[in-house]
Amino acid sequence: MSSLNLKNVYKVYPSGVVAVTDFTLDIEDKEFIVFVGPSGCGKSTTLRMIAGLEEISAGELYIDGTYVNNRAPKDRDIAMVFQNYALYPHMTVYDNMAFGLKLRKMPKAQIDQRVKEAARILGLEMYLSRKPKALSGGQRQRVALGRAIVREPKVFLLDEPLSNLDAKLRSQMRTEITKLHNRLATTFIYVTHDQVEAMTMGTRIVVMKDGFMQQVDTPINLYDYPVNQFVAGFIGTPQMNFFTGKLTGTKDQVYVEFGLNKVALSKEKIDLIVNLDKYLNTDKEIVFGVRPEDIHEEENWVKESGKPVIEITVDVAEQLGAETLIYCSTAKEEVVSEDGFKSIDDETSDLIAKIDSRSQTKRGDKIKVALDIDHCHIFDKETEITIVARNEENKAQIEELQAKREAEEAEKAAIAAAKLAEEEAKAAAIAEKQRIKLEKKLARQNAKNASAVEEVSEEKTEE
Ligand code: ADP
Repeated sequence: MSSLNLKNVYKVYPSGVVAVTDFTLDIEDKEFIVFVGPSGCGKSTTLRMIAGLEEISAGELYIDGTYVNNRAPKDRDIAMVFQNYALYPHMTVYDNMAFGLKLRKMPKAQIDQRVKEAARILGLEMYLSRKPKALSGGQRQRVALGRAIVREPKVFLLDEPLSNLDAKLRSQMRTEITKLHNRLATTFIYVTHDQVEAMTMGTRIVVMKDGFMQQVDTPINLYDYPVNQFVAGFIGTPQMNFFTGKLTGTKDQVYVEFGLNKVALSKEKIDLIVNLDKYLNTDKEIVFGVRPEDIHEEENWVKESGKPVIEITVDVAEQLGAETLIYCSTAKEEVVSEDGFKSIDDETSDLIAKIDSRSQTKRGDKIKVALDIDHCHIFDKETEITIVARNEENKAQIEELQAKREAEEAEKAAIAAAKLAEEEAKAAAIAEKQRIKLEKKLARQNAKNASAVEEVSEEKTEE
């Protein structure tokens, strides 16, 4: 058994940087959890807090139900593998793996049994007497994993362990680590900025941004039901296409309008929109999201599928062998300047589609493509949260998320307004002070002038 519970965990560095905010997660025994997000989002900090290498500023951490906030790293029964595998260059592979156990004064026979078992699991048996310099990068990384395995920890923590390897080796090691997880049947927590690693290895993925958890879900759910625009854009390559638009039509027939395009939503999608009234035929903008693989130019899709069709112009076609990526422009409104000069609002390509590699489509073509509307996404432009629920049961949750984010936005706006009002009041007070000062100065000047005039007139009278 090796479960982990993080309850409202925060990390504030002495410099004042809030690296992790309100991180709450229950990790079950034998899970392969991946923390993923752009650089600086707090993944490593969270992992290091679990390892005990970084103090937890607030919140609680439990391993197997035991509160471990104050427990030293060596007493937490965890093993960590880093990006920089840092093997001892003068030691053999065997000694590198055995070293930690020797320090713990484990009997020799037991060490030998553990090292040999780890070498067997990792396919390192033939390299046990070699020094690290006689190994490839992948083999060295396996030795680093071996050092962790021999400790038989409750939890494995891996911090970007494959980042130093080249692309081919990385994909090979990815499958090796997945197999290792299956063989060891232990809890793994893995940090990466690479969404492909996350999607291929994790049983569950935690997507993070700016220290906040965005979504915790299985890979396929993250792909199919991203809770917000950030997750939607982060998972999947090439990135999901986003278009700002509005919802129009009636409750039974809703259209998404963006640029000069108008696409009908399916009945199933319409039924899952949360608070449709708020968006339908109002000024409230939405962001329409379509993945490149959900755009089809095949004839049967365009002519027979009954899916909405839009017209695009192909700006660039990239033939990648297995597939072709086309960078296109959708129909947009013309902007007419005062002197009558017409231009399209935005000249850059705004749509990427992944099409069949045998397609004849080329640069300059004006073609029709069908959108797989059942897999499209709609987000509130302001909150960036999805407005389409996964299912009926999920509606209340989305509504709650929207309301929470709106309240946060309102609070932010109120704070900004209060600050502005305060600054305006301060500026007004300063201006008033200056006005009074100026008035007094003027009054003094006038008095002076008046007395000078009086003196002159008195002198004149005396004469
Ligand atoms: P990630 O692993 O996602 O790239 P980190 O957890 O390393 O992100 O960092 C999260 C944030 O905390 C970043 O803004 C980073 O600059 C900051 N940070 C990390 N380590 C320290 C530190 N020792 N002192 C101050 N700030 C730090």
